[in-house]
Amino acid sequence: MAIWNLGSINADFVYAVPHIPGPGETLGTTGRKMFLGGKGANMSVAAARAAAHVHHIGAVGQDGLWAVERLLEYGVDTRNIAVLDTETAQAIIMVDPKGENAILLHPGANAEIPQTILQTAMAEAQTGDWLVIQNETNLQRTAASLGRKMGLRVAYAAAPFDADRVMAVLPYLDFLILNAVEADQLRQATGKLPADLGLADVIVTRGADGADWHGPQGHQHFPAIKVDPVDTTGAGDTFTGYVLAGLDRGMPMAQAIGQAMRAAALMVMRHGTADVIPDLSEVQAFQG
Ligand code: ATP
Repeated sequence: MAIWNLGSINADFVYAVPHIPGPGETLGTTGRKMFLGGKGANMSVAAARAAAHVHHIGAVGQDGLWAVERLLEYGVDTRNIAVLDTETAQAIIMVDPKGENAILLHPGANAEIPQTILQTAMAEAQTGDWLVIQNETNLQRTAASLGRKMGLRVAYAAAPFDADRVMAVLPYLDFLILNAVEADQLRQATGKLPADLGLADVIVTRGADGADWHGPQGHQHFPAIKVDPVDTTGAGDTFTGYVLAGLDRGMPMAQAIGQAMRAAALMVMRHGTADVIPDLSEVQAFQG
């Protein structure tokens, strides 16, 4: 089967700064690095590194061709990424010596993915494939309803949290994944606990406390693997990509979660995001 991921692609610019600047302040940086980022790109890379056949559906500007190349190198099918006459999404991330950060997110091409790209991609999708969406692009509701109509399994990572967007796609979902903060925000927006949303499967990730699966047989808690974290960025996206890749290969949910936990645990022991997501052989060899 295959995973179709309608997702963001960002150029992440990470600037080292002596402190987070205030209003009107001009501040010199002490370092700058550029990475491939965006929740969508991270999830595509994670699922591809977990040996799934992943098609990324998205958009960049001419300045983002390197990001498409990078996705291709990681094994992602990039034929459904549009190159638009606008700029690629950017995250400007300032990090001070204490590790505090401030982030500016410019959505650029992520907010202008053409509907024709989605339709071209969906024309190739097969019943039983996965369609994955998050909150950093346009077209989520269109994609979710189309996917549902075509018999795809529709998965949604409700991040960054936006109550209106969540409510708009809820009727079309088979699978919902969110972190503990987002689960709380969803409870406030709907008045319901994740288990009561009427979805086949809901996973709530809880950082170092592991994850909870609310499935057809009820609730099951999975403790996290004990590691010394150095950077938790991208752990959630890695977890999601690995769970879906496991399910796509026909693994039972508990086994897919176990594999995703090992991948995410490896991830929190590394600095960086898409570029350092472990591959399946590393995850299988990792005993935790
Ligand atoms: P992020 O936004 O930083 O990518 P998230 O908030 O979406 O992450 P988390 O709930 O923090 O997601 O983490 C996802 C999974 O990663 C957890 O369920 C767990 O398996 C693993 N994980 C995260 N932090 C740790 C940790 N400190 N030790 C071990 N595993 C961790």
